[in-house]
Amino acid sequence: MGDGNISKEKNRSDAEWRDLLDKQRYHVLREKGTERAFTGSYINHKEEGTYHCGACGQVLFSSNAKYDSGSGWPSFYEPIDRQKVNEITDNSIGMTRVEVICSACKSHLGHVFNDGPIATSGLRYCINSISLDFKKA
Ligand code: FE
Repeated sequence: MGDGNISKEKNRSDAEWRDLLDKQRYHVLREKGTERAFTGSYINHKEEGTYHCGACGQVLFSSNAKYDSGSGWPSFYEPIDRQKVNEITDNSIGMTRVEVICSACKSHLGHVFNDGPIATSGLRYCINSISLDFKKA
């Protein structure tokens, strides 16, 4: 499957993820937790650069697609590349939502909703700050 150099990062055991990630990151990324609204570090972050998976490092979103949704979580209208995320149906809390995960390591990132800016994709990728690492352009 190509890029063997990062395959180890993608296929860690649960025990390895527990060792690698701090408790809060483990909870959100590996147990599908959600950080409390308006508590994450990237909500109002406006620097130019890219946002990467907090577990495996795969690039996920560009600052170009980030916007202020007012939701309390960093919001993007599209991923940097459709191949970088997977979207799966989530019926976990008595409602149907679409979960967004990293396509490389399958870690939980957030959810995507269809109330994004209509001038763009119309989508709102609502992503936990703690699931992301920012790299300046
Ligand atoms: Fe990942």
